Amino acid sequence: MTCTVGVDFGTSTTEVAVYDHGRTQIVSGWSGSPILPSVAAFLPNGTLEIGQGAKTRAGIDPKNSIHSAKRIIGLPWRSDTVQKFRASYGFDLEESPDGSPVFVTRAGKKSAGDIAEIILKHVAGFPVFEAIKADRVAVTVPSAFGPKPRNVIVAAARRAGFDKIEVLDEPYAAVMPYLAAAGGERFLAVYDLGGGTFDFALIKVNGVTHWLLASAGAPYLGGNDIDLRLADWAAETTLITYRQDLHSDPAVRHRLLLAAEEAKIALSDATETDLDLETIDPTLVGKKLKVERAQLERLCQDLVRRTFATCDEVLAKAKVNPSKVTDVVLVGGVTRMPSVREALRGYFGRAPLAEHPPDQVVAIGAAMAAALLSGDREVFKG
Ligand code: ADP
Ligand code: MG
Repeated sequence: MTCTVGVDFGTSTTEVAVYDHGRTQIVSGWSGSPILPSVAAFLPNGTLEIGQGAKTRAGIDPKNSIHSAKRIIGLPWRSDTVQKFRASYGFDLEESPDGSPVFVTRAGKKSAGDIAEIILKHVAGFPVFEAIKADRVAVTVPSAFGPKPRNVIVAAARRAGFDKIEVLDEPYAAVMPYLAAAGGERFLAVYDLGGGTFDFALIKVNGVTHWLLASAGAPYLGGNDIDLRLADWAAETTLITYRQDLHSDPAVRHRLLLAAEEAKIALSDATETDLDLETIDPTLVGKKLKVERAQLERLCQDLVRRTFATCDEVLAKAKVNPSKVTDVVLVGGVTRMPSVREALRGYFGRAPLAEHPPDQVVAIGAAMAAALLSGDREVFKG
């Protein structure tokens, strides 16, 4: 019986799935959650913290809490992407003798590949891997990744303890759970709105065979931008209402951003929620700020609209009309937002496929693809 693993090492979060005995399941890590923030923190006592704890620490120790490392993996110091990354975040980044960027941390100099290795090693230590022996491990990367970043990811996965590693493009992985052996010709659009990036791909499918027709992305467009918008609105409202500035202290600002993200997530289910200002700034005792879903939608509607410019571009490149798209596959946590789904329905004239959780579908599909590569024919049954 084939047993395979799919790993989606994302810019913001990492997910893992296992295919075993004909079934694919997402794996929950030590935290009990299937979603692991792709953040590694080097603590003053010499230990490491990975995931949610590291993400929270970024507010008090930004130079030693490394997130978004995937953005610069395998890229040279001199590239525009690395220079933009340097300008965007408060890390202490320098050029190493081999011309690649390294994070200067209290635990020494770490490359983006080292950070990937740390996160993947944490994943390789999940309890599920004590009981299984994987025949193959598929690690996903954006279609835009060149050979160097792909090699760095494979090397990091190998050092992390994984074996028989394949690299798979994220949109290919995302469509796997939606393929059917009996299906005819289809055009699947993969709309991936994650934490920091937006990617759109058009894939032609015939049965279980599929080809990438065209793809494009916006490297700085995602959930983080929505969090920023909501945080700025909350800070302004707090300043007017309580005469308190949430922007002056970096730690307060970081807690505000984390609270804004939490509120954004809550507003995908509820139509209103409260921002607890006291947990952001302890001087605001007992103060809360009500946020309505409609407010959040107003704040980010131009960001959502921008994603469709990329869709236009990809469809034009492939010479495919939106109405020709058979189905739209939702990928990325932000596609849980009702306004995003509604906008997609408007653009493509059909409801997107949402049978699999959008932040887990890539890992699930990767585990399936690995099983297929191992010659397992049960993948598309049941
Ligand atoms: P990536 O592929 O970039 O690593 P994900 O696909 O996990 O990341 O997307 C992470 C983003 O999704 C974050 O901005 C997070 O706040 C957002 N997100 C997660 N769940 C929800 C939700 N229920 N509603 C809105 N946004 C969400
Ligand atoms: Mg992703």
